[in-house]
Amino acid sequence: MTQYVSKAVGIDLGTTNSAVAVMDPSDTGIVIHQGGMNARTTPSCVWRNPGNGELVVGRKAFARVGSEPEPVTSVKRLMGSRRTVTLAGEERTPVEISAEILREMKRQIEQDVAEFDTPDVRWVVDRAVVTVPAYFDQPQIDATRKAAESAGLRVVDLLHEPTAAASYYCWRTGTRDGTFLVYDLGGGTFDVSVVRCKAADFRVLGISGNTMLGGDDIDTALARHLQRLIQEDDWAMDLDLENDAEDRLRFRRLRSLAESVKKGLSDRTEFMLRDSGGLTDKDGQRIVIDTVMERAQLEQIARPLLERTFQYCDEALDQATEEAGVTLADVDQIILAGGSTHLPLIREMVRSRFCSPAPGSPDPGSPRAKCAEPVYEQVDTVVALGAAVRASAVGGLDILNEERTVRVSFRGTVVTASDRTVVGGTVEALAPGLDLTGGSVRLRTEEYEDEARLEPGGGFAFRRIPVRPDAQGMLTIEVFDAEGELRATVGRAVVHDRVAGDRPEGTTRGAAINAKPILLEVTREGRTQRDVLIPALRPLPFKDRYDFSHPGDTASVEFRLYQQARQIQVIKVPVPPSTPRGTVIDLDVEMDVHSLITVRGSIGDHPFEAVVEVPPEAELPGEEQVGDLKRGFEQGVEFLPAGERAVKTARMEMAQAAFAAARARGDNALTVHEFEEMQAIADSVGKPTGELRPPRADFEELVKDCVELNQYVATFGAEAETPHDEREIAQAIEVQRDQGERALSSGDQRSYSEVITQLQHFFDHLRALAYRHQQKGQPVAETEMAASRLQSAMELLQQVRTQAQASTTSTAGHHKEVEEIGQRLAGLQALLAQDPHRVQQEAGQERQRLIRLKSILSNASDERDGASDIPVANS
Ligand code: ADP
Ligand code: MG
Repeated sequence: MTQYVSKAVGIDLGTTNSAVAVMDPSDTGIVIHQGGMNARTTPSCVWRNPGNGELVVGRKAFARVGSEPEPVTSVKRLMGSRRTVTLAGEERTPVEISAEILREMKRQIEQDVAEFDTPDVRWVVDRAVVTVPAYFDQPQIDATRKAAESAGLRVVDLLHEPTAAASYYCWRTGTRDGTFLVYDLGGGTFDVSVVRCKAADFRVLGISGNTMLGGDDIDTALARHLQRLIQEDDWAMDLDLENDAEDRLRFRRLRSLAESVKKGLSDRTEFMLRDSGGLTDKDGQRIVIDTVMERAQLEQIARPLLERTFQYCDEALDQATEEAGVTLADVDQIILAGGSTHLPLIREMVRSRFCSPAPGSPDPGSPRAKCAEPVYEQVDTVVALGAAVRASAVGGLDILNEERTVRVSFRGTVVTASDRTVVGGTVEALAPGLDLTGGSVRLRTEEYEDEARLEPGGGFAFRRIPVRPDAQGMLTIEVFDAEGELRATVGRAVVHDRVAGDRPEGTTRGAAINAKPILLEVTREGRTQRDVLIPALRPLPFKDRYDFSHPGDTASVEFRLYQQARQIQVIKVPVPPSTPRGTVIDLDVEMDVHSLITVRGSIGDHPFEAVVEVPPEAELPGEEQVGDLKRGFEQGVEFLPAGERAVKTARMEMAQAAFAAARARGDNALTVHEFEEMQAIADSVGKPTGELRPPRADFEELVKDCVELNQYVATFGAEAETPHDEREIAQAIEVQRDQGERALSSGDQRSYSEVITQLQHFFDHLRALAYRHQQKGQPVAETEMAASRLQSAMELLQQVRTQAQASTTSTAGHHKEVEEIGQRLAGLQALLAQDPHRVQQEAGQERQRLIRLKSILSNASDERDGASDIPVANS
């Protein structure tokens, strides 16, 4: 009997280098692909051989940098834009080039998984977790997903690179609780995140970075320095990069040379530069260099560039403080990632700024992280390794029977630390005409047998399957149709391992979050402004409804969506010509776990699908725009407290300098990017909106979660490991609720933040108790949680329904929404046993919608005024 097993792999699709890894069949170790010369990474570089037209990806393509035709490099910087690249005379999109790289990564790991094959099991690669920088915009994420799909990989998740790095660290060290600052400096991007792992679940508390800052910039700066040295030796090296293609190639070669000098100086303090790598000057003379580069010289060049990374670290930390009250002093480890962190200078800068001083050294005078050293381990591959950990946890295992008529998708990993395990998943008929509705599944081990009905949708679950300690066992799964006829047989391993089974698998939820706020441009009383549509750090999927009144006199209304300062989408809404001015336009905006935005809505009672278009490339800003921005910033910054003003001003100066440098160099893409950076800083000083963060709905949700968890934990009673005083905690939650309400009504952000921190603390504590209890072999807990969440949503639904019926101002749209939520909740009820995790999440979302509806209905009259936001009209 042969069966086909597909295990999701983890891919780090890097700007400079990519890597791919997969968890082994027993889920106890990770296999990372190693190429020639034991290289664990592959240059993200694509070249087309003009001789035979063949595409070459990786090291061999990289060797062609600096010769004609040039290979394509750093294509990740163009992801999500409309720009194309030229590959041997042909125009290709960034998505196409990235797909080539991903295809190569798939091919590589296929070689490794083939090693797992046994006579009756064939391993295939068709699913992946692909990582993206946390700071990627929505179009960039979307482009990455498309590239993976066209490479023949189903994307089971898009994971933020810093979260991947933290997941790997936690997995390797068996850490279940900790707060991390992940500092990832690659070739082209800098990414920093504050990530908290609590009870083996990850939450991102702060994110910042720059998609155009990395080791490449050091290479460019060092290449300039070398160019000056060469010119001083009277070689003709006065390069015209704007107009002369040969000069551009010369500079490319000089940069390659600079990169090898830079790398060489990472493990030596001096580097003898004797060979110029076949570089010729403008007179065609072969350049001879004979000089010694010292590490100190490189550091002098690199320091100002590296300095800029710390502003983003501060930003991420500020965000974490605002979100969860986490400061640098709460950070347990600083995890380094990315090839550029091989530079000793960067490690030194990180240590001296963030780490606690060695015993006996002077007090640094500012709060420090708890560690004395940053974690510097596998920095080149840590992201791919983390992606593999996550792939195993969320991608599970897909098994096809020999005839390939039935697919069984198992959830979770095969390794467990407990002596009873849960096996669940879904069964899907692949053959035409084969119907498994009403069928069943039988599970057998050597000493145990059980049978379960298939849920509608094919779900099944077996709980408390005994596993022999410290051994690998086999499970046989037989699938029967409704008539009781055997339709498929598959087998899978289950491994008992006390250490590996207890490792955090990477987050089970909350990995998908929105890094930067999504804004909608609206015109209110003639003034154009951007309102927050989806706030930053919001877990995905996210759904919300907005209403506007029709401005009149136009056949279509345009809404512009921004992510921070960057216009990402234009939504076009067709309006029937007879629509009277002031008609309410409802807009349902949804962002799925892959950051895909869809917009639906209705005008009066007519539903419509909005057309969402990628906006044209941002144009180079003119002098006037730059001037306006600076003036706006200067006016806004005046209102800030002195300390904050100094920080923002310094950030603006750095961005402005980078902008000026990019413009002088004629690098248009970078110029636009730096201008957007300046805009983001200017927006961040903005005018205070008067609204407290996080929004009220979040506060209410958090209170509710705490109350529910508290009740739930109390049900353990005497069984609980830790004594739990339900009444005391309930009172404490009540006190916070009151304080929060008071802070909200008086607009006191400081006390409000304290309340949120305190509630978050209760929540974490209670969840840890619940989690520990579940670990003691009570896998039904998740279902109970989901049921309780669903129950409270149902109760709220009942209230809102009554309210809507009683209200005189409720519209048909409101009634429709109530009924729609009712249907969804009923649907979730049916899913309860099969996918409690999803039920828990979605019931929470539905409840959020109900909370909103409830507040709309109770302030119906104010809300009518509120609906006077008029979108920017396309007239
Ligand atoms: P990306 O995430 O952008 O794909 P990587 O994490 O692979 O990038 O990092 C690539 C960068 O790391 C390049 O700029 C490269 O020059 C730099 N790098 C690699 N090894 C070293 C080293 N030993 N010393 C200094 N820089 C290095
Ligand atoms: Mg990287």
